[in-house]
Amino acid sequence: MNLHIDSERLKGEIEELAKISNAEPPAVTRVVFSRADLEARAWVAALCSDVGLQIRQDAIGNTFARWVGSDASAPAVGTGSHIDAIPNAGKYDGVVGVLGGLAAIRALQRSGFTPRHSIELLIFTSEEPTRFGVGCLGSRMLSGTLSAEAAAALTDKDGHTVDEVRRSAGIAGELRDVRLPTGYYKAFVELHIEQGPLLERQGLPLGIVSRIAAPASLRWEITGAGGHAGGVLMPDRRDALCAAAELILAVEAAARGSGAVDTVATVGVCDVFPGAVNSIPSRVHLMLDIRDTDLARRDGAMQAIAAACQSIASKRNVTIAAQPINADAPADCSPQVIAALTDSCRELSFPFTTMVSRAYHDSLFMSRIAPTGMLFIPCRNGVSHRPDEYSSPEDIARGVLVLAQTLARLSA
Ligand SMILES: [Zn+2]
Repeated sequence: MNLHIDSERLKGEIEELAKISNAEPPAVTRVVFSRADLEARAWVAALCSDVGLQIRQDAIGNTFARWVGSDASAPAVGTGSHIDAIPNAGKYDGVVGVLGGLAAIRALQRSGFTPRHSIELLIFTSEEPTRFGVGCLGSRMLSGTLSAEAAAALTDKDGHTVDEVRRSAGIAGELRDVRLPTGYYKAFVELHIEQGPLLERQGLPLGIVSRIAAPASLRWEITGAGGHAGGVLMPDRRDALCAAAELILAVEAAARGSGAVDTVATVGVCDVFPGAVNSIPSRVHLMLDIRDTDLARRDGAMQAIAAACQSIASKRNVTIAAQPINADAPADCSPQVIAALTDSCRELSFPFTTMVSRAYHDSLFMSRIAPTGMLFIPCRNGVSHRPDEYSSPEDIARGVLVLAQTLARLSA
């Protein structure tokens, strides 16, 4: 098959899409169901229609653009990603998988290839948790990981529910119909920037993902006793912030002590009450994010942290209440999709490596309902979620070419 990627056009489209944003260039801000997000979706959908793809939108706004195969009833091969962007983000996260997926489909069409299985490009709703506090909203619902009832109960910071917001964005239908049946996809493959430095450091243009790490997160409320910073003597103190400090270090120790570099744990939120220089902290709110590619290892680290909680609470005479937020299981990529990606890289004589994804993506949830794989391309200095996020047109085109070959293999 003689495939040619129109790299110039793709570069131009990435630049165009970046202009549909609520931030000053080069920053991109496209929060789900904002005017910019809706305009961007319509713009991409029009590009898909231009090449004859059939467009459908589900009740949460996931958009499907289908190139109907010669066996229209056979399960489709899916590809795609997201175009929503956190505040002050860059141009490439997610976008490379959407516009790159479309560029791959165009290249296949130009080559004269006819897929037997339909090829379907997906634009997932709200991969970023900015608005509703839950990442991968669209793919969680597609995979049945998040129920329609649970999704309907989510609210944004203004108290508007998902249901209100999506309906006022003109998205109709019933949320319970979003879930896809197992077997809908024969395979799913997502092209994405690495969002880390490893490919660039190794001088490799492509990474085939073997496992996708998944986060667990929880809130802690530590309650001690407040008082006057001069009046309460040290032996009588029940300082909630001192307990929090010990707990944060216990989190670090648990991640470092897991024996694997893939265990990472972070306390990124620490709110102190009352927050006055001459007042002993009586209450502290912490948030933990812990990730691993191995569920048992992550659970082990969580147990070590829970044990630390108990001993810190009793030693310091404070209470530590934990409230879990989510605990997604990591996923293995499908051997079938990994093999298709590997064969495509070899056929094109592109060097590659096998790696884990430390960030999570819509693919994590698609893997619950379809054999799933991911292909990474380098991004400069590993930077992502920043205006200076950058992947070169050459690296993007190489990724798109491998994606196109892989889609051809999987859909033949
Ligand atoms: Zn992304």
